[in-house]
Amino acid sequence: MSDVRSLLASIHDVTPVHARRLERLVPLVQEHVGVGRFALLAVPDFHGEGGIESDRGFAARLRGWSDDGCEVFLHGYLHRDSARHTGALSRLKANHLTAGEGEFLGLDHATALRLLADGRNRVEDVIGRPVAGFIAPAWLYGKAALQAIADLDFPVAEDHFRVWHPASGRVLARGPVITYASRTQMRMLSSLLWSRIATLALQPATTVRLGVHPHDLDAPELVREISRALGVLSQSHPPGQYANLLSHSASAKCGMRNAAASEPV
Ligand SMILES: [Zn+2]
Repeated sequence: MSDVRSLLASIHDVTPVHARRLERLVPLVQEHVGVGRFALLAVPDFHGEGGIESDRGFAARLRGWSDDGCEVFLHGYLHRDSARHTGALSRLKANHLTAGEGEFLGLDHATALRLLADGRNRVEDVIGRPVAGFIAPAWLYGKAALQAIADLDFPVAEDHFRVWHPASGRVLARGPVITYASRTQMRMLSSLLWSRIATLALQPATTVRLGVHPHDLDAPELVREISRALGVLSQSHPPGQYANLLSHSASAKCGMRNAAASEPV
């Protein structure tokens, strides 16, 4: 694993459906980490309502952020967000079983391959370059999806607790991600508390990850805390890129090979 300290900030759910919120969220993150120094998690067809290429103005902005240096990840395909579900049973699933968010939890291998390949093409057609990797909605992966992202050779994937190279299984970074919830008051308060604790507790960590969502903007308390956390973390951890984890890990491995050492993967 890399021993170079870095902050990996990311904006989830990048889709024309959230275009207006993203116009405020991108500058908020950029103010602390710098132009092009954060990742964007793009959804090819959010809820079947927002093809990533359907809004030409938005597609141009996404390509511009990518041109600035932002790493663009494929983030699910439809990203069925349970927050839109109504009714007691759906709410129960949404709040406790995450059934509505785990788009890549229950897929069979063939379907996962098809969605990943098609989704990757759609996002790459917009940005004009390869995606940086794949990150599943809600960081939830089923076994078949894990195999499929390795088969398709996505360079990087991450879940709540680690970043890894799918084809080799090599872990590139460890540590919990700092993220926020706005769906209920209780979740919001616990995410504010977690952010406060994590910005202190993760100070010794080599890699610190912080992910934000467009709906975080709906709560002023979250906006304030995100701004504070990014300010603190960007001082201790220079904003970096996921790709650097790969290159640091490759050079570390190379150095170890030269020293005739071996490392389990
Ligand atoms: Zn998402």
